Amino acid sequence: MSPALSVATIVARTEAEGPGHRYALWVQGCPMRCPGCCNPELLQFEGGTLRTVDEIFEEVMASDVEGISLLGGEPFAAAEALATLAHAVRRQGRSVMVFTGYTLAELQGEGAPPGADALLAETDLLVDGRYDKATHTTRRRWIGSDNQVLHFLTERYHPDDPRFSEPNTLEIRIDGDRVLINGFPIQGARTRI
Ligand code: SF4
Repeated sequence: MSPALSVATIVARTEAEGPGHRYALWVQGCPMRCPGCCNPELLQFEGGTLRTVDEIFEEVMASDVEGISLLGGEPFAAAEALATLAHAVRRQGRSVMVFTGYTLAELQGEGAPPGADALLAETDLLVDGRYDKATHTTRRRWIGSDNQVLHFLTERYHPDDPRFSEPNTLEIRIDGDRVLINGFPIQGARTRI
């Protein structure tokens, strides 16, 4: 049976959440409470939509994307299910980028959340560390504060890739009576108006 996870938002094809066109998935729920968090509506573990990995995998394959980006909320709070998804999409030649509030050292340590090792093993790019309001930045693409580190965990990407130094971008989608904003990290960016 395909594992399931609680999903807050999906943007099936975006250019604002990692290199190239990506399928971006925000999980619902985060155990941390960084002051100034740009996704306060995603902190509670209640309220997401339960989706199976198989369903999401089929959407990724239909989306003509370079890879997936996993955001939150906290992706490593759903690491076991997301590791299954990441493994499946990488087997199809897609890449995996993960944005986490944990540091890489925490994810590799004894107190790591369940499945952290499995998800790390399927991650090409990792942006780690809690958002630090005091070192907020708009100059680092996809990254909210200067303490956070972009780790190249595989050889799929290279720091010299010019896409990593381009300016941040913002995408706005209007779907009926909803407005969805993603990309440039601003307060409450995922809030539907
Ligand atoms: S910034 Fe990230 S890690 Fe921190 S509370 Fe918000 S979602 Fe959680």
